[in-house]
Amino acid sequence: MTALAENVDCLTTVEALLPVVGASTTVPLVDGTQRVYANLDYAASAPALEAVAARVTEVLPLYASVHRGAGYLSQVSTALYEASRQTIARFVGAREDDVAIITRNTTDSLNLLAGVVPGSVLVLDLEHHANLLPWVHSRTSQGHTTTVLPIGATVAATLDALRAELARGSYALVTITGASNVTGEALPIDAVVELAHAVGTRVAVDGAQLVPHRGFSLAATDVDYVAFSGHKTYAPFGAGALVGRRDWLDAGVPYLAGGGAVRDVRTDRTIWQPAPARHEAGSPNVIGAIALAEACDQLAALPAGALAAHEEALRARLVEGLTAIDGVHVARIWPDSAAPVGVLTFTVPGHDAGLVAAYLAAEHGIGVRDGRFCAHPLLAHLDASHGAIRASVGVGTTSEAVDRLVAGVAAYLAAGP
Ligand code: PLP
Repeated sequence: MTALAENVDCLTTVEALLPVVGASTTVPLVDGTQRVYANLDYAASAPALEAVAARVTEVLPLYASVHRGAGYLSQVSTALYEASRQTIARFVGAREDDVAIITRNTTDSLNLLAGVVPGSVLVLDLEHHANLLPWVHSRTSQGHTTTVLPIGATVAATLDALRAELARGSYALVTITGASNVTGEALPIDAVVELAHAVGTRVAVDGAQLVPHRGFSLAATDVDYVAFSGHKTYAPFGAGALVGRRDWLDAGVPYLAGGGAVRDVRTDRTIWQPAPARHEAGSPNVIGAIALAEACDQLAALPAGALAAHEEALRARLVEGLTAIDGVHVARIWPDSAAPVGVLTFTVPGHDAGLVAAYLAAEHGIGVRDGRFCAHPLLAHLDASHGAIRASVGVGTTSEAVDRLVAGVAAYLAAGP
């Protein structure tokens, strides 16, 4: 048994500790048989933990309006919602004076933040559109500029460019992904914080891929804001979060206006609540918040490093298997990047990514994603504007699923054009 296989085997503890729902779902294949679904698309949406599903079932009977009723169930729901906020804040290492806003997802969180940043923003061109478009489009109407900095050939070169740009411009915020949703490569957050804080610029992290795969701490990293999504964090009930420094969130005008966000309204003026209520207009998603908080608690209770080790072993197995196939190219942004999370993108030059993905689904029961992964500039940089295939793993992914993907890609190429 190789060291890698041994590693994967011993890490089945992650599965044993945190079972996911639907792990044995079968899907139809073109030959008329059924096969257990190999879900390799966790980066898009991860399955719910069984504990999350159980918690949702438990609290559904208590479900009532939050912050809006004197009745018993409204009070219980309000208490559960506020307790969930605390859990979510704790999960990302919030400092005492940070505020946690329950949002719909990372996209919502970053659009919210884009509406309150009181100055110019610097962003790299490798970002998911959720951490690119809110800065480029929503802010022009407010008179703030956003600079999109092209990444360099190495992490070191990119940091040099960032340092130079921070010295040249006057930025309120640098916003950066914690891990690429395309290649899984982790970004050098500590170095970015050091460079930005040295010139009085705050840092926001798009934690959509980092938080569920590695965990994250605002206090430990000194990052100012983090955004993440429940449906990528094993709680697929429509909640996400933005957590960070209170002052901008208390001062900015919310991009979503409505009931619950205001203290007093006259026809000629509005007095907003402070955060978090200011940014949670409309009836809050109490079940979503409870589900996300349960997932956070479950992930936090895993032995330190267990999930990262589990994913690293699976990803390494995938890289080993795919790179051994002639005609498969595994994408990488930088030669000097840190250990990636469990996300990987590959191309089969000369073959349409959509066709390969459809073949894997129809013939082998494998779910991967194909396309440009909402990161068009990065795909262009990787010379994959025509599309690529992404596989991603997490809690509940087995080495069998990984091996099936490798065998499926090999079989596709063996079958010829
Ligand atoms: N940022 C990254 C890095 C992502 O991978 C994603 C989703 O894939 C998002 C942001 C957007 O997340 P959501 O669709 O949950 O808002």
